Amino acid sequence: MNDLSTNTIGATDVIEKDVVIVGAGPVGLFAVFELGLLDLDTALIDILDKPGGQCAELYPEKPIYDIPGYPEITGEGLVERLIEQIKPFHPTFHLNRMVETLTREADGRFRVTTDAGDTFLARVVVIAAGGGSFQPKRPPVPGIEDYENTSVFYSVRRMEEFRDHDLLIVGGGDSALDWTLNLQPIARSLTLVHRRDEFRAAPDSVKKMHALLDAGKINFQLGQVSGLKGEGGQLAAATVKGKESEAEIACTRMLPFFGLTMKLGPVANWGINLEENLIPVDTEKFETSEPGIFAIGDINTYPGKLKLILCGFHEAALMSQAAARIINPDKRIVFQYTTSSSSLQKKLGVI
Ligand code: FAD
Repeated sequence: MNDLSTNTIGATDVIEKDVVIVGAGPVGLFAVFELGLLDLDTALIDILDKPGGQCAELYPEKPIYDIPGYPEITGEGLVERLIEQIKPFHPTFHLNRMVETLTREADGRFRVTTDAGDTFLARVVVIAAGGGSFQPKRPPVPGIEDYENTSVFYSVRRMEEFRDHDLLIVGGGDSALDWTLNLQPIARSLTLVHRRDEFRAAPDSVKKMHALLDAGKINFQLGQVSGLKGEGGQLAAATVKGKESEAEIACTRMLPFFGLTMKLGPVANWGINLEENLIPVDTEKFETSEPGIFAIGDINTYPGKLKLILCGFHEAALMSQAAARIINPDKRIVFQYTTSSSSLQKKLGVI
C-alpha cells in the first residue's frame, strides 16, 4: 500500500477545502480525480485506518472482473491503482475518524466535524459513505460500555496513548496480531487473549507473535473475556474464562479486535432525505435534497441504480461538474479529454 499523508492537524484547527468527501472507498477516491481535473481541492475522511472501503476491508484479495480496462484486479489492487491515480491532486487523508455532524454556516459553507475533534469548512460535501460506516463489533462482555474510550479501545489512533500500560489484546485476526507486534515494545506488559490457539492472521505475524511469546516478552491466555474490574472507567483487571479454568489478568487498557460491521451511522442525522437508509439523488448531478451536498456510490439511490464500482465512477464525474459550478460560478467549464488537453496533462504532471 502506498504511503498516505494522513492529516494530524489538532482539534483546534479548522481545515478549509473546496470539497470534503465523506468516505474513502473506491468511489470517494475516484471523486478526488474528477474534482482535481476541475481544480478543486479535496479532503477525504474515513472511519477506517486505510482507504478503499469495502474493497480494502471486505475483499482485498478477491478478484474483481468488471472494472473497465482491467480484466481482473483484486480489491486491494484496485485501491492501490486509484491512490496512484489521484496522487497529482494531493488530497488530504483523514483516517480513523468518523464524520459526526454536517451543518451549514451563515456564509453558505458546510461545517463538517469528526469524532476525533477536527472541523472542516467546505463549499461542497460529497457523501461517498457506501453501505455506511464500518464500526467495530463490541464483544459480549457485561459492563464493557463503562470503559469504552477511557480504558477499552477498538482502534489505535496514537500508539503513545498505550505506552507503559498493561495491555490486554483480544482476538486472533490480523488487527489483534499486528497491534500485539507493534505495541509490545512500548507496553509495560501485554497479554494476548484468544478463544483458540489457532490464529487467522497472516502466517508471518503469527510466527513473530510466537517468537515474542517464547522470549517471554508477551503472555498468551486461551479463553474469552467474561468480566471487567475497575472504577470510574479505569480498568484494573479482566476475567478470562477458559474451557475448564478462569484467570484474572491485571490490565489498564483493553483492545478487542472482533471485526467490523457496517452501519448507516451519523449520515441519518444530517437532515438529508433518506429512502430505506439510502440517499435519493437526481441523475444529472447526483445532488441530495440539500443543495451543495452530493451523494455518490453505494449510498445513493435513483431509478435503475446498480451498486457497482463503475456506476460510482460515472456518478463522480457528473457530480464534479456540478460541484465546480457551485464553487466557481463565474468560471466556464470547458469539456476536455485527458489524451489531448495539455492543460489537463499539466495538472496530472505528465508534461
Ligand atoms: P464503500 O466501499 O462502502 O466505502 C464507503 C466508505 O465510507 C467506508 O470506508 C466507510 O467506512 C466510510 N464511511 C461511511 N460513513 C462514514 C462516516 N460517517 N465517517 C467516516 N467514514 C464513513 N462491485 C463491483 O463493481 N464489482 C464486483 O465484482 C464487486 N464485488 C464485490 C464483492 C464483495 C464481497 C462485496 C462486499 C462487494 C462487491 N462489490 C463489487 C461492491 C463494491 O465493493 C461497492 O459497490 C463499492 O465498494 C462501493 O464503493 P463506495 O466508495 O460507494 O463505498
